[in-house]
Amino acid sequence: MRLDVITIFPEYLDPLRHALLGKAIERGALQVGVHDLRSWATDVHKSVDDSPFGGGPGMVMKPEVWGPALDDVAAGRAEGQELESSLPHLNKPRHDDIEGVAPTPYVESRPEEDKPLLIVPTPTGKPFTQADAREFAAEEHIVFACGRYEGIDQRVIDDAARTYRVREVSIGDYVLIGGEVAVLVIAEAVVRLIPGVLGNKRSHEEDSFSDGLLEGPSYTKPRQWRGLEVPEVLTSGNHALVDRWRREQSLKRTFERRPELLAKAELDAQDKAYLEELDNGD
Ligand code: SAM
Repeated sequence: MRLDVITIFPEYLDPLRHALLGKAIERGALQVGVHDLRSWATDVHKSVDDSPFGGGPGMVMKPEVWGPALDDVAAGRAEGQELESSLPHLNKPRHDDIEGVAPTPYVESRPEEDKPLLIVPTPTGKPFTQADAREFAAEEHIVFACGRYEGIDQRVIDDAARTYRVREVSIGDYVLIGGEVAVLVIAEAVVRLIPGVLGNKRSHEEDSFSDGLLEGPSYTKPRQWRGLEVPEVLTSGNHALVDRWRREQSLKRTFERRPELLAKAELDAQDKAYLEELDNGD
């Protein structure tokens, strides 16, 4: 996968070359180009914004700067900075190698469209979900346009639809200062789902939202810590009991924290009976 990010703060994207993403860059599974929007500005001050038509506070990002930037990045003729992995990770054990669990092979799927995907982070966009992350993980090329100030002139987004498949995406119901942090959030969620980036597909198949529910609590050694015990069932060696306990913990957490998710989750008769017990306060 290739990611290109257009921003007025290229250094904000440095986290994209760390940890799992850095490792993906090193292994050739990911390329990241970061482009300074100001290199497309034409005036002496390299300005990228102007006052809004109709008046009001704040500034709006200029179409004459964004238009050529998006054209050049889509055509692959933009000279940005290629991010290199922050650290050599090769030959180190993968954090997600799970002893005794056979890796599930990935199935490659790619969208047929040849236009790159343009993601425009904005609080007015469609809320980003794990389902979107899964969909975006099958893309070959994603371009991100980071807004600042009051955002980007709407005509830029309308015009970009000639060159790109455009998605306006929000990472939550709050307002950030700029789109860069939203790009980091979306890129992390997407890149970890690219086939081969996590050593074992089960690592994300069992995550929250993958089956529509929140994941239950996790524990590691020691068995007892500060007087607190690991739930006994987890040390029983009985895989069927452990699986059932995990399912119930997942249902319980979802019931308590995000009950609205239950309406869309796939639940069997045993799940429904357990939820009924919770509802009755048992
Ligand atoms: N005037 C805009 C509004 O009220 O919808 C807010 C602009 S915000 C100060 C500047 C930039 O931050 C946006 O263009 C977008 O790139 C980014 N941004 C802010 N909140 C965001 C969110 N919840 N999700 C995604 N991007 C966000």
